[in-house]
Amino acid sequence: MKLSRSLIPVILFLSFLIFLISCQKEDNEEAAKEAMIRSLLNDINADSIRNDVIWMQNMGNRFSLADDHRDVAKKLMKKFQDIGYDNACLDSFNITKTFRGAYYAQVQYNVIASIEGSDYPDSACVVGGHYDNILSTSDLTIIPGANDNASGTAAVLEIARVMKKNNFRPKSTIMFIAFGAEETGLLGSSDFASNPNGFSQKIRFMLNSDMIAYEPSVSDANWYVNILDYDNSHTLRHDADVLSARYTLLSTVNDNTNNTRSDSYPFFVNGYRALFFFSYDIAPNYHTVNDVASECNFNYCREIVKLECALLADKN
Ligand SMILES: [Zn+2]
Repeated sequence: MKLSRSLIPVILFLSFLIFLISCQKEDNEEAAKEAMIRSLLNDINADSIRNDVIWMQNMGNRFSLADDHRDVAKKLMKKFQDIGYDNACLDSFNITKTFRGAYYAQVQYNVIASIEGSDYPDSACVVGGHYDNILSTSDLTIIPGANDNASGTAAVLEIARVMKKNNFRPKSTIMFIAFGAEETGLLGSSDFASNPNGFSQKIRFMLNSDMIAYEPSVSDANWYVNILDYDNSHTLRHDADVLSARYTLLSTVNDNTNNTRSDSYPFFVNGYRALFFFSYDIAPNYHTVNDVASECNFNYCREIVKLECALLADKN
């Protein structure tokens, strides 16, 4: 078919119009996404994080091998339910462990809640932190574990809370996980990361918070977050850097790659991308009875929680 020459300008004009409309649509979608992210981040609250940390500290002891470890997991499950997650559940796994000369054969628990993805329900972003704690000394009766790691668990709870409050509907599923038995060998995260098919979800990436509330400076002028990445997650870390500059008071650093010492590592080992969010300054009191909420900086912690929430929302 031969086009009449007089039609060519009309076709060009219509093509240009369609191009403009599609650009406008993309701009509108980006603006709506940014507005949603800002409204989520506005709701992230330092007092809410502090209250969750104090609540966990006041449990007295969250040592994973203690007799009452199931009660601790059930309290966390109830907490997820209280903020609107009817699907919160205990994900059990068996361990055998010799610790400080004693042998344990136990059932342990991760605590999981989720928001189903609207477009990709079988694909999941995981945000997690361990809820158990430990002391370096042999007396394990009182272990506050505020920074390590009530702070990371509180981050998970806070993101879950604000996403529910804002009726956030992610494209892929978001799984909120409080991991058990990290201090005794990354046992909860290892079990979950090696068997995600139990949940029929493909893991897009995992964000781990461990010790995110220690910052001696009250002024936010020089606040840094250490984002540890893995061989397969450098790009994701760069994305986090960009979002940190846009949405938080934090500068970012990365002083370690392929870190083996927290719950992000088993995800990397199983082929998933993961980032490990960590306070820049190392808390001097971790694994001691002085790791208490009054030593934490919750305004600083809030900024890390905002960054993780922004990354989850931006990728969805
Ligand atoms: Zn820890």
